[in-house]
Amino acid sequence: MIETLLCKKNQTLLAALKQMNLNAKGRVFVVDDLHRLCGVLTDGDIRRALMNGYHLDEKIEGIIHSDFVYAKQNEPYEGIIKKMNEKISVIPIVDNDFKVIDYFECRLNMHIPIASPNLGEKEFKYLIDAFLSTWISSNGQYIESFEKQFAHFCETAYGVATSNGTVALHLALKTLNVGAGDEVIVPDLTFAAPINTVFHAGATPVIVDVEPESWCIDPQKIQKAITSKTKAIIPVHLYGQPCNMRAIMEIARKHDLFVIEDCAEAHGAKYDGKKVGSFGHIGCFSFFANKIITTGEGGMCVTSDEKLNERLRILRDHGMNKTKKYWHEEIGYNYRLTNLQAAIGLAQLERIDSILKTRQSLEGEYVSGLSDLRDIEFQKHNLPLREKVVWLMNILVPPDQRDPYLHRLNREGIDARPFFYSLSQMDLYKKYVVSNHNSLDLSSRGISLPINNQIDDQIIQKIRGAIS
Ligand SMILES: *Cc1c(COP(=O)(O)O)cnc(C)c1O
Repeated sequence: MIETLLCKKNQTLLAALKQMNLNAKGRVFVVDDLHRLCGVLTDGDIRRALMNGYHLDEKIEGIIHSDFVYAKQNEPYEGIIKKMNEKISVIPIVDNDFKVIDYFECRLNMHIPIASPNLGEKEFKYLIDAFLSTWISSNGQYIESFEKQFAHFCETAYGVATSNGTVALHLALKTLNVGAGDEVIVPDLTFAAPINTVFHAGATPVIVDVEPESWCIDPQKIQKAITSKTKAIIPVHLYGQPCNMRAIMEIARKHDLFVIEDCAEAHGAKYDGKKVGSFGHIGCFSFFANKIITTGEGGMCVTSDEKLNERLRILRDHGMNKTKKYWHEEIGYNYRLTNLQAAIGLAQLERIDSILKTRQSLEGEYVSGLSDLRDIEFQKHNLPLREKVVWLMNILVPPDQRDPYLHRLNREGIDARPFFYSLSQMDLYKKYVVSNHNSLDLSSRGISLPINNQIDDQIIQKIRGAIS
């Protein structure tokens, strides 16, 4: 760890930012060639320097604090603690030659967010490049590359970038001509975006229950809810877990239904060896800041159907004829993503394998740190045919303990969250429910714990204390 907290004084602002991104502590200790401490630099210092005309490729030498706080090796604990405050929560420890040998961190006013974007040097570089190119609106190289490469990642032929994940779903429904008089089957346990877009499209949602093991929409419940009006199914790959796509696609074929996969929480998850988003007619993704990869706000529709790709693009762009400008043949939307956002997205996508791996290993650390707690059940990661990815760290606890646990976690500065409410619990959606038994049960027992680069063994132990 100490290595990622160090930066040589002849290194650049960009190099320092890179270290801060790795260490997630918002600062570096600046050393000379002999490893001796000569200053401290925070992310705030770099932001202020940039605002004052510094460039990213300039050396940090000129902007380091020389009146910094540090502790000596073997300095009594009480003395060190007195040096810490709300602003100074991490300080270097030096030996007799003033070489940095360790650091001390005080986590009294700790706040661990449920998720934080994993942004690095590459995102920053591409973003600057897009900015300098002046292609900052919704045309440009980054849009094209991001769409193409994200589609490739999903094992589909086409990608159509959108302003966010919710409008990706709406665009998909409109593209498939789902509207008034049609019924669309959605799961009861989910974030509410999919059902809301069914209303936006003028169709009627039909809410069905989820499976107790996977927490995803139950194909048998779908089968039971089908009527002559059913037009589409929106399976949600919930919390990184893929739905039973074999059964869902079989039902869809039998009844001639459209399938729009909501993959907002499951970038890269696989079912039967195939990526989510590649099964249905259209797959929809979100790149909101708390999702697996992000563009700030953003989304994407993926499909392998050439006609659907064409229509998605036309409706995304005001329903305008593609060759005859300002000639409209349909009521369309402006659901475009900007080249600036796509620049960040492309960088994220190029790092997605390592992002997914890091998330998975954090889940592993959680599991080994909490697995002996008797009352806790983990989200299943080895269901047949399913290869889930890690979005949040999800556990089930006894229903009467859930809120007290959450309360304790939040008091400790851990931004743990209850699961999504079952849609059927809310007055807005109640009358559209067909089945909801498992969904209600899961929703009363579930806790989502943070997944971000601040999680380490110490924090897991703290969480353990709060839920045992
Ligand atoms: C986040 C999310 C969405 C919506 O994505 P936005 O980009 O926030 O609009 C849709 N469905 C599910 C399941 C989500 O978690």
